Amino acid sequence: MKHNFGAGPCILPQDVFKQAADAVIDFNGLSILEVSHRHKDFVAVMDEALDLVKKALNVPNGYSVAYLQGGATLGFAISALNMMRDTKKAGYINTGTWASGAIKEAKKLGIDVNVFASSEDKNFSYIPKDYIAPSDVDFIHYTSNNTIYGTQFKAIPKTDRPLVCDMSSDIFSQEINVGDFDLIYAGAQKNLGPAGATLYIVKDDVLGKSTSPFMPTYFDLKQQVEKESMLNTPPVFSVYVAMLNLRNLLQNGGVKAMEAKNNAKGNLLYAEIDANPLFVGSVAKEDRSNMNATFLLKEDSHQELFDKMWKEAGIVGLPGHRSTGGYRASMYNALPLESVQVLVDVMKEFTRKNG
Ligand SMILES: *Cc1c(COP(=O)(O)O)cnc(C)c1O
Repeated sequence: MKHNFGAGPCILPQDVFKQAADAVIDFNGLSILEVSHRHKDFVAVMDEALDLVKKALNVPNGYSVAYLQGGATLGFAISALNMMRDTKKAGYINTGTWASGAIKEAKKLGIDVNVFASSEDKNFSYIPKDYIAPSDVDFIHYTSNNTIYGTQFKAIPKTDRPLVCDMSSDIFSQEINVGDFDLIYAGAQKNLGPAGATLYIVKDDVLGKSTSPFMPTYFDLKQQVEKESMLNTPPVFSVYVAMLNLRNLLQNGGVKAMEAKNNAKGNLLYAEIDANPLFVGSVAKEDRSNMNATFLLKEDSHQELFDKMWKEAGIVGLPGHRSTGGYRASMYNALPLESVQVLVDVMKEFTRKNG
């Protein structure tokens, strides 16, 4: 078995893969790939998949959950469209590629975007902290975990405006207070399930209040929620596997237990990055992500040997994003602590040979 440190689509529990494979062959006598989304057996799957999100994250009353398609990339537009109000202004925090993508999309929709905080000056290697969020905006948007750069917000931004968050790469990895947000969205393929579904958690008060003159039916969260994510054919397989994964999560202690496991994995790897004289972390220590740990070799000349060693150890998906270089160890929920130990052992062995 490989140790998959890939950034997404990502590792899921082996049990979930097995159950998903079984359902491709036999889901109550049909394949999950051929069953009608209107069949009661799939409607039950959708209901459970929605319900398990509420259970896992303690979603309070007054919030709805929906599974759409289009990935977080379409979420950039859907969130902006649904949150647009009279001022047509919004505040965005720019912490990297995905946040920049959200900003670009909001601008295209005619929103006057105020980027009131940014870490672009240091190639997105930290989370901006000294800022005052604007109060004359319809909403504030940020990206809780920066998958490419390896930074993560340790606290939500301070604001009295409605808060919108792209949680694609750290949802279900740690406890959150859903009540702090008006809208959360997340592509499934980083921690929830296979690519195809995109999760939305929305405060009901938000629905149907957009001032956008442009609102395709599919983008309207009010209609999506009313139709219980069945406005059109949903991504049946992706929702099914997300349901299996959420069952698995809740059977194993839920998000609280997962947070402890993720802290243990992060601590183990970051301790080695800091102790090992041949490596250096890529981002500010206090902003390090437990989901995506980015680091560099101090000497480029060491790369060939290090790459050979981790590949021989069965590790895959370790190279950094093409825009940053270096290494990125993505440690999503399903990655076992033992896989992180394998990487740490390779780093130690590499340094013993080269130090
Ligand atoms: C991967 C990712 C995206 C893009 O997701 P798609 O589902 O490919 O559109 C957006 N935001 C964050 C934080 C991501 O990690």
